[in-house]
Amino acid sequence: MDTHSALYEQGRKRLEELRQLPPRQDKSLQERMLEHGVTRRDFMKWSASVTALLALPLPFSNLVAEAAELADRVPLIWLHLAECTGCSESLVRADTPNLDSLIFDHISLEYHETLMAAAGWQAEENLEHALKTYKGNYLLAVEGAVPTANNGAFLTVGCKGHTGLEIIKEAAEGAAAIISVGTCASFGGVQAAAPNPTGAKGVYEVVDKAVVNLGGCPPSEKNIVGTLMYFIMFGRLPALDMYNRPKWAYGARVHDNCERRGRFDSGEFVEQFGDEGAKQGYCLYKVGCKGPYTYNNCPTERFNHHVSWPVLAGHGCMGCSEPNFWDDMADFEKPLGRQLLHGLDATADTIGAVILGATVVGIGAHAVASLFVGSSKED
Ligand code: SF4
Ligand code: SF4
Repeated sequence: MDTHSALYEQGRKRLEELRQLPPRQDKSLQERMLEHGVTRRDFMKWSASVTALLALPLPFSNLVAEAAELADRVPLIWLHLAECTGCSESLVRADTPNLDSLIFDHISLEYHETLMAAAGWQAEENLEHALKTYKGNYLLAVEGAVPTANNGAFLTVGCKGHTGLEIIKEAAEGAAAIISVGTCASFGGVQAAAPNPTGAKGVYEVVDKAVVNLGGCPPSEKNIVGTLMYFIMFGRLPALDMYNRPKWAYGARVHDNCERRGRFDSGEFVEQFGDEGAKQGYCLYKVGCKGPYTYNNCPTERFNHHVSWPVLAGHGCMGCSEPNFWDDMADFEKPLGRQLLHGLDATADTIGAVILGATVVGIGAHAVASLFVGSSKED
C-alpha cells in the first residue's frame, strides 16, 4: 500500500470511530450551513480547498467533508495565557461567517475564555470538568506565552489563582494533541523579547509532549482550521518542520510565493514609503521586508477571506512566524542586510550581497532557502 493509500485508510477508520460517538452539538453542520446561506456546492469547494491546503491529493476531499461534519465529536479546550487574543480574533472576527468560522462553531468547544458565557467560579469549574471528562481525548489549543519566571507568578488565571504554568502543565497531561496557536504560544512572542523579564516561553518548552507550532502574529485562520481538520481526520499531528510547524503551511518562504518577487529579481526596489516604486508595486526588501527569511503561506492563503496580505497592502513582511522575530527581525522597516542574525548570518549576508549585485539574485536567494530546507525534520 502506498503512503497516500495508507493515510486514506487511516483517515477512513478514524472517521468511522468518530461517527460512533454521540454528537455534542444540538445542530448538524448542514443545519448551520443552511442558516448562514452556505450551499452544498460551497461546502464541496471548501473541502477541496482544505485538501489542497493540506497538500493531500483530491480524493481526500471526501474525508475532509466527513471530518467537518464530525467535528462536534472532538472536544477542544482552548486556553489563553499571556497574549492579546488576536489569534482567536483572526479566526472568529469575520463580518460574514465563512466555512472556517462555521467549523469553529461546530467543533465541540468545551472551554474558551473569550467565547464562553461562563465567568468566575463557574468558568473554572467548566475547565476542571472538561479536563476530567475528556481526559486523554481532547485537543488542547493554547494562545499566548507561558511566563515562567518566579515560578510563573507573572500570570495567574481564575479565582483560585493558579499560574498559567500550572494550568498548562495539567492540561497538557490529559491532551490527545497540543496546538500552539500563534507566535506567543509557539515561541514566546513579544512577551519573550529581550530582556524578557517574565521568562516568557513557548508551550513546547514547558511540557513533555509534542506540540504543533502555528507561528504567526496572528496565524491565518486557514492554518488554524487546517490543523484542526488534520487532527479530526487522522487523529494525529501532521508532518512538521524544524520548528514544529506543519510543513504544508510553513514549507515555503514568503519570498518564494510573493507577487513582488519578479521586482526583487529585476532589482526594482521601493527606496522609501510613498515613492514612485511604492506606487508601481516594487519589492519592499529595502524598506524592511523579511519575506526572504520567513516561512509562511501568507502570499497564497492571504487574510480576511483571502482579500489581502501585508505585502499586497504595501508593507513588508515582519517575519512574525519565526522564533524570536521581535529581536531578530527588527528594525521592521529596515533591511537586515549584513546585520548579524543568530545562526542566520550567512542568510543575511547573502541577501545583502544579492541586493548589491542584482544579477545573481535568484541563485543567492535559493541558496539561502536550501540552508533552511536542509535542516528540516523529515516526514
Ligand atoms: S523581499 Fe518581500 S516584497 Fe520583496 S519579493 Fe521578497 S517577500 Fe516580496
Ligand atoms: S506577511 Fe510576514 S509578518 Fe505578515 S503575517 Fe505573514 S509571516 Fe507574518
